[in-house]
Amino acid sequence: MVELSNFTSFFVANWKLNGSFQFISQYLESLNKEKFTKKCVVLCPPSPYLNYVKDLSKHSFIGAQDCSCFEEGAYTGEISTKILSDIGIKFCIVGHSERRKYFKESNEAVKDKTLKLIENRIIPIICIGETLEEKNSNRTNEILNKQINESVPESANEHNSIIAYEPVWAIGTGKTPTLNEIEDSHKFIRKINKKFLNFKILYGGSVNIKNSKQISDIKNVDGALIGGASLKIEEFIKIIINSS
Ligand code: PEP
Repeated sequence: MVELSNFTSFFVANWKLNGSFQFISQYLESLNKEKFTKKCVVLCPPSPYLNYVKDLSKHSFIGAQDCSCFEEGAYTGEISTKILSDIGIKFCIVGHSERRKYFKESNEAVKDKTLKLIENRIIPIICIGETLEEKNSNRTNEILNKQINESVPESANEHNSIIAYEPVWAIGTGKTPTLNEIEDSHKFIRKINKKFLNFKILYGGSVNIKNSKQISDIKNVDGALIGGASLKIEEFIKIIINSS
């Protein structure tokens, strides 16, 4: 399992449903020129490209965007944590709002997946966050509390799991919470249970080259989960270099 305490910050590139062999080889040709010793860079391509990205990548870790809650058997189309571990995957995003929304993923399913990932020594990056409607009705903390309590298993700790706070309304929209709101939510998450005090908590939602430095400077922010801006390799590199 990757030793999270070796790193001061984390930059996770969620490529979503994007990429091609050509895109990947150009991307890694640029990224491989950089070495960020204390900054942990995780690339999450679509599953069919996991091995290709892993083979080409010199300094980054590879993460999956999702996994199955089943170990093995008659589950057509699923990819188990055991298989991910077998091919050398070190991280896996779980509970991303797009999976919750389009694939009806529940907190319970996120918890099952997280458990399996930990058992297979893969670090889950557990995504939580409120919708705009929930934010506007002042329910952000209530939602974060519920998602954390229902989707983070007992076995998760600061060494084997990461949390990503991703307000649903900020993902892919160009909108972000204020710096104070991000700080407050991260502080709130840490206080839900004392075991979260030292967790790595990433922020995700429209991070780009213009806002990444300020966001990464926030005291309780340990890095970023980046969608759109991670597809532009020059911007992604600048974000990592400029961030704390
Ligand atoms: C994401 O996919 O988790 C994400 C934060 O996307 P974007 O950076 O495009 O908002």
